[in-house]
Amino acid sequence: MTVKTANSAFPNLLTPLDLGFTTLANRTLMGSMHTGLEEEKGGFDKLAAFYQARAKGGVGLIVTGGISPNARGRLAPFGCELSKFWQVSKHKKITDAVHQYPTKICMQLLHAGRYSYHPFSFAPSKVKSPINPFTPSAMSVRQIKGTIKDFAYSASLAQRAGYDGVEIMGSEGYLLNQFSCVRVNKRTDEWGGCVENRMRLAIDIIKAVREKVGEKFIVIFRLSMIDLVEGGNSWEDVVTMAKAVEKAGATLINTGIGWHEARVPTISTSVPRAAFTWITEKMKQEVSIPLVTTNRINTPEVAEDVLSKGHADMVSMARPFLADADFVQKAAENKSDEINTCIGCNQACLDHVFQQKRASCLVNPVACYETELTFAKAKISKRIAVVGAGPAGLAFSVYAAQRGHKVEIFDRASEIGGQFNFAKQVPGKEEFYETIRYFNKQISLLDIKVHLSTEATAEELTSAGFDELVIATGILPRKLDIEGIDHEKVKSYLNVLRDKQPIGNNVAIIGAGGIGFDVAVFLAEEHEKSPLVNNKDKWLKSWGVDQSYQNDGALLSKSTSEETEITPRNIHLLQRKTSKVGAGLGKTTGWIHRATLQKNGVKMLAGVTYKKIDDNGLTIEIDGKEQLLDVDHVIVCAGQESQRSLYQALETSKSAEQGLHLIGGAKVAAELDAKRAIRQAAELAAVI
Ligand code: FAD
Ligand code: NAP
Ligand code: SF4
Repeated sequence: MTVKTANSAFPNLLTPLDLGFTTLANRTLMGSMHTGLEEEKGGFDKLAAFYQARAKGGVGLIVTGGISPNARGRLAPFGCELSKFWQVSKHKKITDAVHQYPTKICMQLLHAGRYSYHPFSFAPSKVKSPINPFTPSAMSVRQIKGTIKDFAYSASLAQRAGYDGVEIMGSEGYLLNQFSCVRVNKRTDEWGGCVENRMRLAIDIIKAVREKVGEKFIVIFRLSMIDLVEGGNSWEDVVTMAKAVEKAGATLINTGIGWHEARVPTISTSVPRAAFTWITEKMKQEVSIPLVTTNRINTPEVAEDVLSKGHADMVSMARPFLADADFVQKAAENKSDEINTCIGCNQACLDHVFQQKRASCLVNPVACYETELTFAKAKISKRIAVVGAGPAGLAFSVYAAQRGHKVEIFDRASEIGGQFNFAKQVPGKEEFYETIRYFNKQISLLDIKVHLSTEATAEELTSAGFDELVIATGILPRKLDIEGIDHEKVKSYLNVLRDKQPIGNNVAIIGAGGIGFDVAVFLAEEHEKSPLVNNKDKWLKSWGVDQSYQNDGALLSKSTSEETEITPRNIHLLQRKTSKVGAGLGKTTGWIHRATLQKNGVKMLAGVTYKKIDDNGLTIEIDGKEQLLDVDHVIVCAGQESQRSLYQALETSKSAEQGLHLIGGAKVAAELDAKRAIRQAAELAAVI
């Protein structure tokens, strides 16, 4: 089966790419993602189903998650490696599954170097990474030469396993990138010093791999085109390396952006779309093999734009293929509005991987659960009422309707989306609009009846003859018991984000969870005429990225990056806990939220006791000392409580035949996020 391309709006994206000895069906590359299935018992069967779904959906080329060529290069003690012949058969499950479709698949060879999370890690020099507690040992020349052999042998095993090629991971601060930069490479032998010495390991590996696998095997090199760390490479060094990579026999160069330890966001939702493709474009002047560009490209429109401008020959998207396996097929059929778009939240993918949990996707809980979370056609088509059109109610409705049930949704609000309508207002969270667009489209495709501005009551629901009642009524903001809580200075986050009430320049925010941070960003950046996400150049400058590449690592001097505006507001973000403010935020994004507020001069205070609110402001106590925050407004973002009154009424009034179910924030409000709400909804829809 091939992807249908009926007069597609994406001609560049869907044009095949001739690599000489083989042709890729189109210009989409599913970028490497570790899923956690690599190490699970029976995980390769699940991985095969995961990759097969993406091949069926028409992606041109898949690159697997990183597989180490030897034990010391593993990311974690039991990380996946391909170094022995007996390991070939499990990889064959993947390649056989993918090759039922015209998609090609390359295995990524990744040696983690000092990013290995175990005590036997090694690196060019004994220099510890700031994001890993283990100090690496410096590699001996013998170990370096052994590593080259291991890469080549592993590539030959990948070839035996049926892969169409390998991607050699030379970016994001892993071993080969550690060698190529003076940041970690302090060697004085022929593997350190000048760029020719620093890149020797990468180049010798490409040559050794090419020699072992022959000419008709794809060899991608992922080159760090912009290190974004001090001690990173100059543009001249990166170009020297790219030319050597081409000469050594690589088929494609994929773009790497920033080390994992870089303090510049590179993929989170607040990064403007396609913010880094200019770097691949710059490299296009220097080499002649095809280049792949990457990072925050999440729609076919953006991908097409990048290709049509000549920034690259292919586009790598990783998380967008978690969010929607049929991304390419939908684009080819001019149905891009049906794509479930990756919102760049990292909540179910990267955050999971960093916690050693299986990856999935917030907007697509089926990702990496293809064999476990399935939606068979229902034997009996039931009439189902869903109350609440937030993420939980919407996800349930779509999956249930796909199974053949007749679904009607009721919401008291005038639009669908629930709290996502507040989230999307936050600067840097505009991607949340896409999820609402996706659900709106699915509602019309699946003929789901939606009753907006309709308060559902127990009486109506029980008398209308529904077979099943699904209550997804969400939450109510928590009410606080502080002296003066009813003072006119006090507002809830809904007054700010939903009602857009005017807020003064001096503000205290009670509660520093996800919503407290979002409200702080909203208030800090409200003055921006064009939000940073719409202004790539300004965004890059604000995070210290030097687009002229005058400095090593492409970092601006601190003073230049600090020239960007800060908020005219004086904001205090407060919490009772004594831990670091923001410690509970997402593993891979919390630092970005904190840095954004720090740049805006927001004062974050922990260990706060709230004493009273009056005309003078908010009186608090920290370490036994009372202080007055002379603020115009106090915004309460102190968590939420389930809204369950309808469910409770239905428990007593529904008929015996009617099924009654509670999902999302209405079920448990504590630590509820959209990831949990949507997965819970999908799991119910799969069995109802
Ligand atoms: P809700 O989204 O609250 O939806 C409930 C719906 O039920 C509402 O539309 C309401 O109008 C309707 N309703 C209630 N009672 C009735 C009734 N009787 N009749 C008719 N309709 C009724 N989560 C994340 O995972 N990541 C984030 O980055 C994130 N950012 C956020 C930012 C902000 C500013 C906010 C406010 C929330 C954010 N969240 C985030 C939280 C996330 O939005 C919620 O976890 C999620 O919306 C909960 O989904 P739900 O469907 O259970 O409830
Ligand atoms: P939250 O993350 O639970 O934070 C609530 C905050 O209020 C905490 O800082 C808490 O800190 C404080 N608080 C709780 N009870 C209080 C009380 N009685 N008095 C004073 N302060 C109190 O909840 P949220 O911020 O409302 O977010 C709701 C959900 O949406 C969360 O689960 C979150 O994951 C999700 N969300 C996620 C994101 C994201 O970017 N991933 C963004 C927004 C929301 P102290 O107890 O220390 O004071
Ligand atoms: Fe994208 Fe979030 Fe899904 Fe990850 S969890 S793939 S970032 S939508």
